Amino acid sequence: MTAASVPQADVINGRAYAADLKTRVHEDIKALEAQGVRPGLATVLVGDEFPAMAYERRVRRLAEDLGCHYVGEHLPASAEEADVVAAVGKLDADPRVHGILVLRPLPRHVAEVAVYRELDPMKDIESVHPMNAGLLALGRPRYIPSTPASIFYMLDRYLREAGHDPAEVYARSKLVVIGRSNNVGKPAVGLALARNATVSSCDVHTSRAGFLADYTARADILIVAAGVAGLVRGEHVQPGVIAIDVGINPVEDPDSGKVHFVGDLDFESVAARASAISPVPGGVGPITDIWLLHNTVSAARLTAFVEPAQRSLDGADIPQWDLFEAPRR
Ligand code: NAD
Repeated sequence: MTAASVPQADVINGRAYAADLKTRVHEDIKALEAQGVRPGLATVLVGDEFPAMAYERRVRRLAEDLGCHYVGEHLPASAEEADVVAAVGKLDADPRVHGILVLRPLPRHVAEVAVYRELDPMKDIESVHPMNAGLLALGRPRYIPSTPASIFYMLDRYLREAGHDPAEVYARSKLVVIGRSNNVGKPAVGLALARNATVSSCDVHTSRAGFLADYTARADILIVAAGVAGLVRGEHVQPGVIAIDVGINPVEDPDSGKVHFVGDLDFESVAARASAISPVPGGVGPITDIWLLHNTVSAARLTAFVEPAQRSLDGADIPQWDLFEAPRR
């Protein structure tokens, strides 16, 4: 690393944040166990895509490490839509399972929406069922999906630790989100709006239209979730930006053939201009994993202690915001 490229930015330690959350979630799990409830997480994996398989392995290990019940349904890529729907139905009916994660991507011939609408909304911990997705869009989430939740857990906490009032920073910030997927980019926009930031949403069309850099250059806070290695470089951002990298992109070393992962930010050049940056790996990813277990705990509490007739239709019965530093609107 040359002197000119030495990072100026605070490098946000996602692993340390995740470790703190893990302690907290573990305490929640022990408290539930003392009341006779063992939280249960299930995943549905279709096919053998490497990132989905790696994610499944991580959350299985984490669930087992924390003493949760775990069920992993793994179907071949050739599975019919009806088979995937049936796997979800089986987990819906299993009283030991409180939270269900359907891993993406699903094969092309399996429509996500056909699978998502089969999920019991109370077990839909990533808020992809139309009811939960609607609540999330209205700012009344039953479950905040793990990746956008982790982005804002990280941001809120970093701002507080850096001596700022997060609410005040958001309210005077231009916040730009690159990527507009239903599971990451769009809900991140919603969480940013809930913090009173002035928000812009960019996607591949912004790049094709040739003005992505116009938006990145004005961002006080930049969240990049596009899945394009090195999409944003130092010259695209303004000095002092807080840059959060969600992307996870496999890169093969041409000599050794070994695969490692990089983010959507060109780390060195952005770090040289930013005031803070999240790395890949070791940034948002580890928080996302533990957040999934946090949502599983919320789902277990809901199923165990709130009678079906008493469950709120608008998600108000789960204290979803308790882990965040910044108040919401
Ligand atoms: P996706 O493919 O569903 O969506 C990608 C989005 O980025 C789309 O809106 C697309 O239009 C946009 N995009 C693509 N190319 C672009 C470009 N050149 N310029 C601007 N926008 C562009 O992906 P996703 O599920 O939202 O995931 C995005 C990235 O985040 C991936 O790398 C994924 O592996 C990673 N991810 C990380 C975590 C984590 O916990 N860190 C969790 C989920 C996803």
